[in-house]
Amino acid sequence: MNIEISGLSKIYPNGHAALRDVNLEIGSGMFGLLGPNGAGKSSFMRILVTGQKATSGTVLINGMDINKHRQKIRPLIGYLPQDFTYFSKLKTWEFLDYAAKLSTSLKKKERSLKVDELLDQVGLLDVRERMANKLSGGMKRRLGIAQALIGDPKLLVIDEPTTGLDPEERIRFRNILSHLSQKDVAIILSTHIVGDISSTCQNMAMLNKGEVAFKGSPEGMIDQVRGHVWQVTLDNDEFNAIKTKYSVVSTIPMEGKWEAQLIATEKPHPKAKHANPNLEHAYVYFMENELGVSLV
Ligand code: ADP
Repeated sequence: MNIEISGLSKIYPNGHAALRDVNLEIGSGMFGLLGPNGAGKSSFMRILVTGQKATSGTVLINGMDINKHRQKIRPLIGYLPQDFTYFSKLKTWEFLDYAAKLSTSLKKKERSLKVDELLDQVGLLDVRERMANKLSGGMKRRLGIAQALIGDPKLLVIDEPTTGLDPEERIRFRNILSHLSQKDVAIILSTHIVGDISSTCQNMAMLNKGEVAFKGSPEGMIDQVRGHVWQVTLDNDEFNAIKTKYSVVSTIPMEGKWEAQLIATEKPHPKAKHANPNLEHAYVYFMENELGVSLV
């Protein structure tokens, strides 16, 4: 699977430029799309799944232009939108069967096998008879994945909801995706949750105000912040002073003091020591230093 995006721009009728000259190449495996709210992630994904047209630029999926070969490309794509919440009064298996009717030409018996195979894959076989709108939030999300997979897509596009799943569901969801990415499927996961990208994606891009601010591997992004992450234990007054000057990424209370991790290009305090950077540090660093967004 290969997706080539060149010079992609999206200007909405109100004049707002949601994407500006985006150039990316995405292959099989998990690709993470990171960026704050309003960065252009949903606009980008809607274009990719042929749900809306770009103002300019091209998207080639396995060499086919999405504007010229929509009928051929559409069956290759599975999409889980951010707001996948609509469930009519159907049982869990009926919902999936309905999705299969819409997007595949499988006969009743094959559909039934496919539905149960997918329910099993996403851990919902036990609740196949439950009304879909009575499933928990995490289960609905998994049913969403199952419907996106029904046509055996080669490109799976997932727009993460901004409201959280509980940690157990998050891990479960990530494991389902990692498992899928072993096959020749490209999975694009759009999120503002940095941890989801560092734990699952081989490649990533960061969007900000419609532009690609970084593209490469999560490790490559972490490399950019190396040497600028510090750890220091401070009393209350020192802590209050330092957090007005630098971005504090994490704090742990320690016997009346604070152990803080912060981002700074120079040593922020005489007692500060270098700490190991992670993707969250890199994200904060990027937002502040490369993009000039103040997080303090
Ligand atoms: P993200 O998914 O990263 O939050 P979006 O693609 O939803 O970003 O939005 C990017 C920008 O485009 C935002 O400023 C948003 O307000 C604007 N936008 C999104 N959809 C429309 C639309 N249909 N008309 C006008 N502006 C839009």
